[in-house]
Amino acid sequence: PPYPIFLSGAVQRGFGRGGKDLGCPTANLPDESISPMSSVCETGVYFGFAQVSGVDGDEAKVHPMVMSLGWNPFYKNERLTAEIHIMYDFSSDFYGHNMQALVLGYIRPELDYVSREALIEDIETDKRVALNSLARPAYDKFASDPHFHPHK
Ligand code: ADP
Ligand code: MG
Repeated sequence: PPYPIFLSGAVQRGFGRGGKDLGCPTANLPDESISPMSSVCETGVYFGFAQVSGVDGDEAKVHPMVMSLGWNPFYKNERLTAEIHIMYDFSSDFYGHNMQALVLGYIRPELDYVSREALIEDIETDKRVALNSLARPAYDKFASDPHFHPHK
């Protein structure tokens, strides 16, 4: 796929299936916002940068993120969802806020997990892979991409 892929939309409520319990809340993009990605990408886990408008003192900083693009069981696996975990400790939820994301690369396919521990371990690996990739100088320019709103 032609990276970077830009996605943006108001954060939707999910089914609250315990993202926060896993230590990994995922902010859902609205269905209509994911076609730039779903039209060219396979399902799986991706990395990039993301920004949320009007949260945490309105700073709108750009943060590393990992994103899952996957089939949603609630819709009988007929609908793709894009969920983003931002690697930043926000002081509050940000449902309804606009989220901008720049997808920069693919980490792995969607997998089924035999246990919650196995899933948590893989998420930790995904975060490390994302941070290691984004630390490369070639990715710096994307954090200040004009798609993101200027931050203070
Ligand atoms: P839901 O099923 O509603 O998506 P989650 O448990 O996955 O519930 O939590 C996601 C919500 O948590 C996001 O919509 C956002 O409001 C909030 N949140 C707080 N911190 C983060 C973060 N670092 N990354 C993503 N979402 C976060
Ligand atoms: Mg979620």
